[in-house]
Amino acid sequence: MTDIAVIGGGPAGLMAAERLAQAGCRVSIYDRMPSLGRKLLMAGRGGLNLTHSEPFDIFLTRYSTPAPQLEAALRAFPPEALRTWAAGLGEETFAGSSGRVFPKSFKASPLLRALLRRLEALGVRVHTRHAWTGFSENGVVFATPQGEREVRADAVVLALGGASWPRLGADGGWTKILTAKGVPVTPLAPSNCGVRIDWSETFRSRFSGTPLKRIAVEAFALEVAGELVVTDYGLEGGALYALTPVLRDALSTGETGLAIDLRPDLDEAGIVQRLSHPRRGATLTNFLRKALKLSPIQTGLLRESGGRELPTDPAALARLIKHVQLKVTGLQGLERAISTAGGIPFAAVTDDFELQSLPGVFVAGEMLDWEAPTGGYLLQASFATGIAAAAGVLARSGAGG
Ligand SMILES: Cc1cc2nc3c(=O)[nH]c(=O)nc-3n(C[C@H](O)[C@H](O)[C@H](O)COP(=O)(O)OP(=O)(O)OC[C@H]3O[C@@H](n4cnc5c(N)ncnc54)[C@H](O)[C@@H]3O)c2cc1C
Repeated sequence: MTDIAVIGGGPAGLMAAERLAQAGCRVSIYDRMPSLGRKLLMAGRGGLNLTHSEPFDIFLTRYSTPAPQLEAALRAFPPEALRTWAAGLGEETFAGSSGRVFPKSFKASPLLRALLRRLEALGVRVHTRHAWTGFSENGVVFATPQGEREVRADAVVLALGGASWPRLGADGGWTKILTAKGVPVTPLAPSNCGVRIDWSETFRSRFSGTPLKRIAVEAFALEVAGELVVTDYGLEGGALYALTPVLRDALSTGETGLAIDLRPDLDEAGIVQRLSHPRRGATLTNFLRKALKLSPIQTGLLRESGGRELPTDPAALARLIKHVQLKVTGLQGLERAISTAGGIPFAAVTDDFELQSLPGVFVAGEMLDWEAPTGGYLLQASFATGIAAAAGVLARSGAGG
């Protein structure tokens, strides 16, 4: 029987372990944390967005890395297959009005519990508090509370994640181990993260924590509709996350900017028409609330961008409402980013997800260099590459058994 060490017990590693155990391999999962799937559980906090139901050819375009291996993995395990798999674990899914797919329970914990039960029934052994520190002649080495432990393995699946939310386990420490072995690694960087904006003290103290609803954000000719939340340090929110790649590129050479459209449902002419009604002594805040349903935070944003004295000319004010320009001084760090850009480039990986320079070592999940917005794309690719790495192990070893 083939002995496989799966290192990293997140979605990618757990899926790889399931497939390998089903094929008859003897599988052990190792994770540095006291329990598995911590980031998956965190992802379930605000409603677990497992995947997306849009047409598959559009779905594929959401991934910034058009690597043939990633595409092949997604084709072999597409969103429908993930939904069927989740249903097999007792978690039926549904597609919301945006096309995003969630388990009916909205949570990650029932799915994770059912998967861990299935792995146990398949004989998969789980070793927590095992931090992978490198390779030995016949296998891999871990730091454990009892000291160093060497484990023999016929093949290794590394599914160590990126480096966002490091306190959940994936801290990117693997980059040092692999680069020392000659594996190229694109530097890890935050993705799907907030931006830093130097708010005035008045705006920050009044509006930090306040949502901005039904807006659109624009940067470098990309526009995303959705919601934002004003924070002490700047902005967070889904409408912004999809813009991380372009903002990150621009920030590599200095400050950049973004524009918020406070009324994406109206064009400038429609706004001018509403602003042309007589003001009748109302304060500007009240007038904008009545004429355009702008909330105090939205009027605050206009002042933050256009200065305390806002234009009185309706055309100029309408232009500002459609393009609230804000200076972005940086991205929020990896500590709170939803995902990680960078990682092992697909050029360093075979079609079987095996490292070119380390035969017998397979890789899966967010530690590979791909990037996608929120919307279920991250989990879908993590699960799909877990399956692809397992298939690679099986192809190499002549199918477990
Ligand atoms: C707040 C939040 C919300 C999210 N929401 C969603 C969502 O709704 N939909 C979606 O698609 N995605 C979401 N994501 C992203 C998604 O959770 C990740 O893309 C996914 O978990 C990545 O899976 P992975 O298996 O590659 O890595 P991880 O889930 O990060 O798992 C890696 C594992 O490796 C272990 N590990 C790391 N280093 C070592 C080491 N040296 N030794 C041993 N073990 C190690 C870690 O402890 C961890 O258990 C969210 C992420 C966050 C932070």
